[in-house]
Amino acid sequence: MIIKSIEAQEILDSRGNPTVAVILKLEDGTEVFSAVPSGASTGAYEALELRDEDAGRYLGKGVLKAVANVNDIIAPKLIGQEVTKQEEIDQIMLDLDGTQGKQNLGANAILAVSMACVKAGAIASKMPLYAYIAQLFGNSTEKFIMPIPMSNVLNGGKHAMGSSDMQEFMIFPLAAESVVEAVRWNAEIFHHLGKILQEKGWQKTVGDEGGYAPPLGTNEAPLQLIMQAIEVAGYKPGEEVFIALDPAASEFYEGEGETGYYNLKTENKKLSNSEMVKKYQQWVEQYPIVSIEDALAEDDWAGFSQLTKALGRQIQIMGDDLLVTNPERIQKAIDRKAANSVLIKLNQIGSVSETIRAIKLAQSAGWTCVVSHRSGESEDTFIADFVVGAGTGQIKTGSMCRSERVAKYNRLMMIERELGDKAKMAKFPFKK
Ligand code: PEP
Ligand code: MG
Repeated sequence: MIIKSIEAQEILDSRGNPTVAVILKLEDGTEVFSAVPSGASTGAYEALELRDEDAGRYLGKGVLKAVANVNDIIAPKLIGQEVTKQEEIDQIMLDLDGTQGKQNLGANAILAVSMACVKAGAIASKMPLYAYIAQLFGNSTEKFIMPIPMSNVLNGGKHAMGSSDMQEFMIFPLAAESVVEAVRWNAEIFHHLGKILQEKGWQKTVGDEGGYAPPLGTNEAPLQLIMQAIEVAGYKPGEEVFIALDPAASEFYEGEGETGYYNLKTENKKLSNSEMVKKYQQWVEQYPIVSIEDALAEDDWAGFSQLTKALGRQIQIMGDDLLVTNPERIQKAIDRKAANSVLIKLNQIGSVSETIRAIKLAQSAGWTCVVSHRSGESEDTFIADFVVGAGTGQIKTGSMCRSERVAKYNRLMMIERELGDKAKMAKFPFKK
């Protein structure tokens, strides 16, 4: 089916900042909508998120330049193209941009169109979106792996200033037999955590990703509270429900390359990379932690290699800012044994085809891949379908409140119910 029109618009994300939306129409009248998310603790090596920098509008965060790039540069080249030729469509946009980091058109402009084409391609192919995405990957369109959700119930770092230095404390229900069950467990634990906080006199206000954000004073207190909440909710920590962390350590790293230090302000401590690795080893002994993302800073390759050597056989060592969904950085990390897993964010690289290539490269090295939201999200539930089509078996999409987060869980439950026997829950490959 042929693309008839592409129109970009400036809309708002979950933080009230502008983002790019695209409405794409096909010749048969099919109409789809897509919207790109936006990070706060962004990696230095991400593709460019083009913003207007015009202080007179939205404090400089407007995206009218990216919108114009879609409407004036991308649309004229794609109108008239066959929408199901995803790789060709993405390549046309990459060629139009002509830079490594999408400096000319912006990753936000390109990704909005790329996702809209996938959505319209699915309708034109009369396939559910997740099945069409599975086909783009070359995966089975008969059997699907449902992702285990890691849910960020305590927010800190850049997503909740005044809370912990570390950004995300997540519950990870590895024993749940379906997404429907996993979502229920996580929601129950979330509500029990809220009650515990209230009983201790803390506020139940939430951070950007819907997790609670009390100023607990240390980075270990969230772990203790989560353990308590899992138990009070009636689940067994370390048997049924585990813990995943995203310290987002680039945000509290001071200094250059591999020689700086980690400034844990809430604890009044400055630690080297080796001392951080020791801290994580102690925590993994003490708590049922099975996954740590961005344990160290994005340029601390030596620290990441040290951590992977120390813990990489037992737990998931994931790179987010370190790898930015970028095949070149993933290859470097494979070569340096600096991780065993990659967080996948479509807008870090800026097109669906490149994201698929990043996942395949990581999988070829035996790595796991976790599909992720951004801290600034929209009502677009694309990543829910994407993770089912990709079959990578893990998703990170925030806490159990705030509609832009819950929308993804709701879509996953609907997909699972629609699939019935064709859906199988993923198994987590690491054993502590
Ligand atoms: C993250 O760091 O994994 C994250 C989701 O945050 P942001 O979108 O702010 O990068
Ligand atoms: Mg992260």
